[in-house]
Amino acid sequence: MNNIINDIRETARQLLADGKVDVVIGYEKGSLPLKATPCFVRSAQEVDRLIWDETCENNLASFVANTPGKKAIIAKGCDSRSLVVLIQENQLLRDDVYIIGVSCPGVVNKRKIEAEIGEILEATIAEGTISVKGMEGSKEYSFADVKDATCQTCRYPNPVIEDIHMGVTIEVSQSTPFADVIEMENKPDSERQAYFNQQMSKCIRCYACRNACPMCYCPECFVDCNSPKWLTGGVNRAENLMFQAGRVLHLAGRCVDCGACARACPQDVDIRAMNRKSAKDVLVMYHHEAGISETIKPALNEFSADDPEAFLVKE
Ligand code: SF4
Ligand code: SF4
Ligand code: SF4
Repeated sequence: MNNIINDIRETARQLLADGKVDVVIGYEKGSLPLKATPCFVRSAQEVDRLIWDETCENNLASFVANTPGKKAIIAKGCDSRSLVVLIQENQLLRDDVYIIGVSCPGVVNKRKIEAEIGEILEATIAEGTISVKGMEGSKEYSFADVKDATCQTCRYPNPVIEDIHMGVTIEVSQSTPFADVIEMENKPDSERQAYFNQQMSKCIRCYACRNACPMCYCPECFVDCNSPKWLTGGVNRAENLMFQAGRVLHLAGRCVDCGACARACPQDVDIRAMNRKSAKDVLVMYHHEAGISETIKPALNEFSADDPEAFLVKE
């Protein structure tokens, strides 16, 4: 990791010193253990703030469209897929962003650790081992055991678009894609309904999931809209479900499965289950995965006069 950090800092220093970019969007050490925070480095003197490790969990693509000027961005595989979608959706000009791609071993899920040893007070990461002191005890974890669920199934850890590459390219395991979705699909309706009812009951509609998502960039979200008024603002299972179902539909063929929404959720709602089902359906029906290529048009942005329209026109 140290070599990667040095390379990132050196690249950032050069870009800023040469005036090629106005800002480098990256990660710095956060104020809480095991938590990096996004940072905006605007001068060569500041580049030593930049870090890279298993705590760099935010999807930085969320910040890129609203940051003025020419920018460089540190992009993991999933961040780079988000950048592709943003470029395809005309939210970002490719020439306005310099992509520092980093092969990503995955990010840590703090919640797994805190479930065992309480609030984390101190932590160090060295060579795949995370040593943690918590409110209720201390423990050493292998990174593989506390890797975020998203990263366990990630098939794009290497950036799909970049101007420079950092780190050694990671080999992707050939496990069945969407095995988790297939398992859920095979459960009886009643079991699935009970599961999602329970998940929706936990939601407090804080919208942290929406705010963490690079693909949720509408200036006015449907949940905040007064006319028509889709939701009352009350927190109950039915409206919570409507919010999440609306979000899943808006993200169909666009969600890059970065997991930022699920990690941001303070209630540990299984948001991924619905988004992954939608991603699988888009793959099966439209042979499309979000953000894996600049040249392939997004599934729902394409129309051909020969498309079957059985769902629109009944014969
Ligand atoms: S989903 Fe993939 S690219 Fe994104 S953080 Fe996890 S391992 Fe890295
Ligand atoms: S799913 Fe989680 S993050 Fe999203 S609104 Fe509900 S509680 Fe907040
Ligand atoms: S919905 Fe969640 S997993 Fe999908 S792109 Fe947005 S933050 Fe990432």
